[in-house]
Amino acid sequence: MALVEVDGDKPPRLVAQALHSQISMHQAYGGVVPELASRDHVRRVLPLTREVLSQAGLALHDVDLVAYTQGPGLAGALLVGAGVAVSLAAALDVPALPVHHLEGHLLSPFLSADPPEFPFVALLVSGGHTQLMRVDDVGSYEILGETIDDAAGEAFDKSAKLLGLPYPGGPHLARMAEFGNPEAYALPRPLLHSGKPDFSFAGLKTAVLTQVKKIGDSPCDQTKADLAASTQAAIVEVLVKKSLLALKETKLKRLVVAGGVGANAKLREQLNAACAKRGVRVHYPELSLCTDNGAMIAMAAALRVQRGMANPRQDGGFEVRPRWDLSAA
Ligand code: ATP
Ligand code: FE
Repeated sequence: MALVEVDGDKPPRLVAQALHSQISMHQAYGGVVPELASRDHVRRVLPLTREVLSQAGLALHDVDLVAYTQGPGLAGALLVGAGVAVSLAAALDVPALPVHHLEGHLLSPFLSADPPEFPFVALLVSGGHTQLMRVDDVGSYEILGETIDDAAGEAFDKSAKLLGLPYPGGPHLARMAEFGNPEAYALPRPLLHSGKPDFSFAGLKTAVLTQVKKIGDSPCDQTKADLAASTQAAIVEVLVKKSLLALKETKLKRLVVAGGVGANAKLREQLNAACAKRGVRVHYPELSLCTDNGAMIAMAAALRVQRGMANPRQDGGFEVRPRWDLSAA
């Protein structure tokens, strides 16, 4: 949940934000339980609304537009957010603006002190998506390549689970990898030489599973750290190579990285090094804004409003889109 201020053409300003993470709730089940997620949305949405207003010293009637995530995602959770947002907007007699979740991720670096300029190549690496895009402006997204199976975040999470790490495994695996040798295990880098900016990560988790079975029931910490480091190295190498390929294809000199995996320190280190050599500027969201948050949705809405692209529905109705292609947003 967040409040963003739009003042003419000035960069929109984040005024307040509050986040309730459901990670601990889902941890006991090893992944997201959709029904629990929706019920928790119901419980949290109004207290979070009150919290951001109180942080900003504002009241509900100061709100000029309500933005909400229309998709993609879990239908139940989307319905809670959309239902509340559209009702609130109707009560306040202001527009309600649907936002694409991935557009939120993609534009999250605009919340940083040094926002990117258009055009740029975007590497979107989240729990459910891995895509390279050419971005010419807000709403102008051309997909250059994407994963044909698992997402990078999924590869981190599934490998981490095989190593016995808690959900969501990405950050846990990254911490463990700090103590390991990234060359200890030769894990596959599918499609590395395909010549296209596409990805495939499903084979990696199978390769990790094979190693976990070989290692047996009680591996020592060093063995696990070596496998974690080797897994991370395989994912990062593919992400870096494919980003460079997309930059070369588009001849652009700016890269924006967004989504949860964008918080990965090894990915940042290797992208920074490779891009510095080629005169490419890399922009990231702040670490805390890589994973899901309300500020990125409010920012995407604000950037659309500034460009006259906010076309809210007039009939008071709404729909959610559990599956929704960003290039159609
Ligand atoms: P999507 O946005 O595609 O719908 P999502 O909202 O679940 O999916 P995000 O919130 O963007 O995804 O990111 C969560 C993912 O990021 C998880 O897979 C998590 O493991 C991964 N992640 C977070 N931090 C790190 C890290 N430091 N290293 C690797 N992976 C990470
Ligand atoms: Fe997300």
